[in-house]
Amino acid sequence: MQDWSIKELSSLLREKKTSSVEITTDYLAIIKKKNPEINAFITVDENRSIAQAKLADERIQKGEGDALTGVPIAQKDIFCAEDWLTTCGSKMLHNFIAPYDATVVKKFNEAGAINLGKTNMDEFAMGSSNETSYFGAVKNPWDLSRVPGGSSGGSAAAIASRMCPGATATDTGGSIRQPASLCGLTGLKPTYGLVSRYGMIAFASSLDQAGPMAKSSEDCAMMLNVMAGFDPKDSTSIDHKKEDYTKNIDQPIEGLKIGLPKEYFAEGLDSDVAKLIEAAINQYKKLGATIVDVSLPNTNLSIPVYYVLAPAEASSNLSRYDGVRYGHRTSQYDDLMDMYSKTRQEGFGEEVKRRILIGTYVLSAGYYDAYYLKAQQIRHLISEDFKKAFQSCDVIMGPTAPSTAFKANEKIDDPVTMYLQDIYTIATNLAGLPGMSIPAGFVNKLPVGLQIIGNYFDEARMLNVAHQFQKATDWHKAIPDGALS
Ligand code: GLN
Repeated sequence: MQDWSIKELSSLLREKKTSSVEITTDYLAIIKKKNPEINAFITVDENRSIAQAKLADERIQKGEGDALTGVPIAQKDIFCAEDWLTTCGSKMLHNFIAPYDATVVKKFNEAGAINLGKTNMDEFAMGSSNETSYFGAVKNPWDLSRVPGGSSGGSAAAIASRMCPGATATDTGGSIRQPASLCGLTGLKPTYGLVSRYGMIAFASSLDQAGPMAKSSEDCAMMLNVMAGFDPKDSTSIDHKKEDYTKNIDQPIEGLKIGLPKEYFAEGLDSDVAKLIEAAINQYKKLGATIVDVSLPNTNLSIPVYYVLAPAEASSNLSRYDGVRYGHRTSQYDDLMDMYSKTRQEGFGEEVKRRILIGTYVLSAGYYDAYYLKAQQIRHLISEDFKKAFQSCDVIMGPTAPSTAFKANEKIDDPVTMYLQDIYTIATNLAGLPGMSIPAGFVNKLPVGLQIIGNYFDEARMLNVAHQFQKATDWHKAIPDGALS
């Protein structure tokens, strides 16, 4: 049971070969056993998950429900879930019980999926290693001395260690794709606006996007079917026509034009990772794809631009945590100003404070033009690079991350090297484009991810392209040692 895919679980439930209560109970037992070591979950509420499973079984008995009815998944702790502790990995929200469901959570509830619990994450989704969480670091199931990636490292570690078959994640600069890559999983960051941000705790609103993480492209497609859709509660939600992302997943990809950006294979990329990416491209050639050289000349500016824009938006979004409305409030204070500053000093971790400082600085009157405005202009150029590249290809491919999972504590005191983890992922967030990571092999027993970048709203094609690779390879089926024991 433990290694079943979402697709398999869905059919077994509908054929009544198992029940949601049975599956949910089994997963909860696995979480109980493994989570103390991996630390992938912040909150588990067995009674609530089982109660949801009972309701799902009733729906299935009556012949009702959808593909995901009865299937258990985990929710990243960035999503508000009514009456669930929702912390965003921060001390600031260590006691925050959400009064409503995020649209993503609501959609999964309506589909009848079971919430197995809330997954650990970097504080306010800021990080690439899941070491900034107030609830402790998450371990990579492939090697417990290494990081799972971040910020959706809890979701990734939970799936990789087979504590759940799929989980939600969010990606502001790479947080779905990089942990998927480092944990041997499939993850998709959709086009900006495809999935509602309502109830998803804001980090950098013009970049944040939620998406699915699972073992395979097929499972991600099933999850995206639930997650995608227009939401009037999110002003940046796009009214895109409803699609079935599983429908064309089996189509052959003969004639597919794959663009390879030379900037993604330059200095900084681990040579063993590069070899696996080249092997994956060769596999695509065997499947009938043709290769086109493209250029994304502003790639090296994406990190500096992101670290102006994301902190700017974060500094504004995080101003709401003042100790008045919700979350942590300092216990001793003299007056209102003192209460604000002590609350924020105690409630936020180092990385979050660093971003608030940078953000406030770049938005200040004297520096706005030099930093924020300039960054917005370069952001436009980055989008233009992609527009041009997509004139000659259908999808763009390259590595997801420059290396495999690194050791815990290796980069935490060196923000710039940590930031470089996202060198190949951030540009898609800046452009609002969809990006995906799929397993493409191993270097020293550590997973490597291949990145697939698509044009706007081309998720169905990306999932198809990923699925064809997964039909031809077994990388996504590999399981960390001991995960099934
Ligand atoms: N690692 C990047 C950061 O620290 C991206 C995080 C994310 O996508 N949420 O900001």
